[in-house]
Amino acid sequence: MSSTVAPKAYRNFINGEWVEARGEKAYENRNPANTEELIGMFPVSGAEDVEAAVEAAKEAYKKWRLTPAPKRAEILFRAAELLVQRKEQYSKDMTREMGKVLAETRGDVQEAIDMTYYMAGEGRRLFGQTTPSELPNKFAMSVRQSIGVCGMITPWNFPMAIPSWKMMPALVSGNTVVLKPGEDTPLSSYNLVQALTEAGLPRGVVNLVNGDGPGAGAPLVKHRDVPVISFTGSCGTGREIAAACAPEFKHYSLEMGGKNIIIVMDDANLDLAVDGAIWGGFGTTGQRCTAASRVAVHRAVYKEFVERFVERARALRAGDGLDSAVDMGPLINEGQLKTVMNYVEIGKNEGARLAAGGNRLTEGKYAKGWFHEPTIFADCTPKMRIAQEEIFGPVVSVLPVSSLDEALEVANGVVYGLSASIYTRNVNRAFAAARDLYTGIVYVNAPTIGAETHLPFGGTKQTGNGHREAAIAAIDFFTEWKTIYIDYSDRLQRAQIDNA
Ligand code: NAP
Repeated sequence: MSSTVAPKAYRNFINGEWVEARGEKAYENRNPANTEELIGMFPVSGAEDVEAAVEAAKEAYKKWRLTPAPKRAEILFRAAELLVQRKEQYSKDMTREMGKVLAETRGDVQEAIDMTYYMAGEGRRLFGQTTPSELPNKFAMSVRQSIGVCGMITPWNFPMAIPSWKMMPALVSGNTVVLKPGEDTPLSSYNLVQALTEAGLPRGVVNLVNGDGPGAGAPLVKHRDVPVISFTGSCGTGREIAAACAPEFKHYSLEMGGKNIIIVMDDANLDLAVDGAIWGGFGTTGQRCTAASRVAVHRAVYKEFVERFVERARALRAGDGLDSAVDMGPLINEGQLKTVMNYVEIGKNEGARLAAGGNRLTEGKYAKGWFHEPTIFADCTPKMRIAQEEIFGPVVSVLPVSSLDEALEVANGVVYGLSASIYTRNVNRAFAAARDLYTGIVYVNAPTIGAETHLPFGGTKQTGNGHREAAIAAIDFFTEWKTIYIDYSDRLQRAQIDNA
């Protein structure tokens, strides 16, 4: 399809201005449901653009860190109001560039709204501690201090929510920001930055540098004037980022992959469990870090569960996420589609039973997009690759288990530890599972997805490096503690010595 209308050319945002990349190169952002639809051209940035963005953020930091936190928060409040007003437009933009259905992109924008309001509220808290000194006439307290320029590298699957999880706590705490968003979904970050700018953010406080990982992300990670890196993405990239941050002892938080599980016990409400497995497994076309890509089912209900799960999966309608009759959008790009197709072959070769789906969708309305059928492998064993590795697509592995103990062993027997869930009506089992599942998030009688912004988000083992996003945990990452002692005794007082 050709057009005489020039595609919209978007720019980077550096020092309060929309500017072209220094190299003047641009790349295409296309709709994964219909690759003939060109959404816009975005800059291909390099080290020079990152340099300019960091310089602007460093300069802006001098004033922003001294701006009273409640004043910083007022700007976030205004940004949240703008997001509310523009929710529908931003959601549609996101569906066009990312593919997930409109109900889910509305959820993504809503998450950004929730996070922005929440962190705006923090402007009048940012609590520290006061505590008695062990010495007379001495005052002791700890306060939070901002750190400086924060580099943020985000993926494409939650293109507005994830940047907001990072930017809002960093900003309210007094830091400045350089964001490198996922290459496949730059428009949603553009929209978020636009809202912040219109809300009155001073120039240089937030900077947006588009481009690919090695070209724009890597120079940001390595930059000497960027003491904080907040990353969400794959373990492979996370490892590289950790290695690049280590020599400079940077603060870095890594939010990475998952192989999340739903456990279905013999006393579960099966209707609820099937609903949860469908939403957890195929929501966002399985491209969520918290997607339920494994389901461990008690043998007593295994046959019935698999039959019902398969029937429901087959009935899901794939298509363009803007169509309200569609349940599941496309994969994000050709590479992700190929990964899914490769894992389907791996599953077949490993001897798992292909119970639903298994094919790329290519006919008719699917011809121009990256569509794949919702796919279920039954009778999987815990060591199979499809039961161990993150696929990041609409593929769910179902495993039979004989007891809660066995289910917990299966659940914990992967390198990841993001989210897990159990369906049971037995309170003892629910509490035992909540205690023994070694993950950052546990759900009881709900699927593995559905995080709320005022609770910590993140995972154990290779899902992360011990930090958490959202809630106060995010403030902990974007600030450093400073302990202040004020001695008003007018004499030398030696701690641990003069109080003996
Ligand atoms: P990815 O390939 O690691 O990319 C993530 C970001 O890193 C992108 O902006 C990417 O740029 C950039 N990048 C790539 N190489 C880089 C380098 N050498 N230096 C600096 N930046 C670099 O991950 P993805 O495929 O976009 O996202 C899917 C993964 O994210 C999955 O593993 C998923 O589980 C994980 N995820 C985790 C969470 C969580 O909170 N735990 C949430 C969502 C997603 P390009 O876009 O140009 O490649």
